[in-house]
Amino acid sequence: MHELAIATSLAESLIKYMKEHAVKITAANLSIGPFSGIDPEALKFAWEPALANFPGSGLERCILKIRMAKVKHSCRNCGSAFEFDNWQIKCPSCGRESLHRESGSEFILESAEIENV
Ligand SMILES: [Zn+2]
Repeated sequence: MHELAIATSLAESLIKYMKEHAVKITAANLSIGPFSGIDPEALKFAWEPALANFPGSGLERCILKIRMAKVKHSCRNCGSAFEFDNWQIKCPSCGRESLHRESGSEFILESAEIENV
């Protein structure tokens, strides 16, 4: 279950940020692409065991808010750009099967909700 390793690494980054800026993080807003290989439910499930590695870190109340990222496409034929929930091949604009996938593998910490300590 590699989500535990990802959750642990995310927790380390957030704890580092809290120490550097003297804040508490109460929520982390994540954006995950459908081709990132990360299961959002497994990641949520792994969050508590990951936090157990850092007792007294102040991150205990932090929740994960996970958003599935849209997949950006561009058409090699007509140049149109689209966003879909999943990988598409056929261009809605010109009808050719010429779409190129430009994103969908990302795992991004978009923002964090913080409070001063
Ligand atoms: Zn097209």
